[in-house]
Amino acid sequence: MRAPAAALRDWTGGEPRLVLTVCARCGNHWYLPREHCPVCGSDDTDELVAAGAGLCVAVTHVHVTTEAGAAPVWLTLVELDEGPVVMGRASEGLAPGDRARVSFLPDGDGLVPSFTREDDR
Ligand SMILES: [Zn+2]
Repeated sequence: MRAPAAALRDWTGGEPRLVLTVCARCGNHWYLPREHCPVCGSDDTDELVAAGAGLCVAVTHVHVTTEAGAAPVWLTLVELDEGPVVMGRASEGLAPGDRARVSFLPDGDGLVPSFTREDDR
């Protein structure tokens, strides 16, 4: 049995990047890590660091968070240019249809992905 691909650390491990998995058999890309391709079932996979840009497909304003007293946050879903849809915080004003680019903000002891309009940078 093939060992799982060596895990590149991403923002959940303190590295400011999004890591995708690519199927070597069918070329499918996905995000979050899993050992088998969700399309063809192959375990022949590689990791790819996403370029971090894509199309904003949804935005929502979350008024109540899990942290008592925390300010409301904007969340977004962005379809990366590589294909997978990822969730992150959104800068105010980001709207569906906008090109978006990720950056990583400090959050507690770690990082959190945050998307801004690509032309705002
Ligand atoms: Zn596949």
